Amino acid sequence: MKIISLPCSFDNYSYLLICEETGIAAVVDPAEYYPISCAVADAGVSLRAILCTHHHADHIGGLDDLLEEFSGVDVYGHAGDKRRIHGLNSPVAEGATVQIGRNMGRVLYTPGHTAGSICYLFGEELFTGDTLFGAGCGRLFEGTPKQMHDALDTIAHSLPPATRIHFGHEYTAHNLKFAHFVEPGNAAVAARQELVDRQRTAGQPTTPSTLADEAATNPFLRCREQGIVDTVAQRFFGEDLDPLSVFTALRRLRDVF
Ligand SMILES: [Zn+2]
Repeated sequence: MKIISLPCSFDNYSYLLICEETGIAAVVDPAEYYPISCAVADAGVSLRAILCTHHHADHIGGLDDLLEEFSGVDVYGHAGDKRRIHGLNSPVAEGATVQIGRNMGRVLYTPGHTAGSICYLFGEELFTGDTLFGAGCGRLFEGTPKQMHDALDTIAHSLPPATRIHFGHEYTAHNLKFAHFVEPGNAAVAARQELVDRQRTAGQPTTPSTLADEAATNPFLRCREQGIVDTVAQRFFGEDLDPLSVFTALRRLRDVF
């Protein structure tokens, strides 16, 4: 499967997924109409499906116009978001399958950022929306810290380290500043900061990363690491230091960073 990342709006990413054997394509997160419509035309593919990770307006801003241009496409999203994603006609939940040409994908239900947040896994390609970012995770708008912690834990421990992470926003540089702030002794964070600086200077996206990159540098996947536990212990007097409490404290710190 060929994957084209499409910068949209201010710092969103949509993704065009192409089955090269059949020319059938899907878009993940229809953030904006024009770049997606152009990419479909440029690739000369047949757009058959739109895969929504969640209902936020910056992720579905191009949906109505795309539905007008490409009638009859399947619009996937969590069943609970039926009234929040206009045109959703293929409601899914944990474990559902999604077929794009000859490629079979699977839905992971990952609530936390929103109640209906889902990720899509095709082979070793994971599309995470606003659940897992480069070196960060989404804000908790509708879910609890435990839901997000469990969702990230499942991703981190059930998928191979080589899994590529295709995330929904270009937040990686700022996320790495936070990662350095909470774990200043982590050399992998410093190395990734240099890489990301080079990528951004060259106008390249930092997506995709790999799960191995995230395991090494993403503080929200590192709640058991001593350096991070020490930071939380210094800032939150008397707080419990189990992984969920550390995660909750990190998310509170990141919200104001
Ligand atoms: Zn969002």
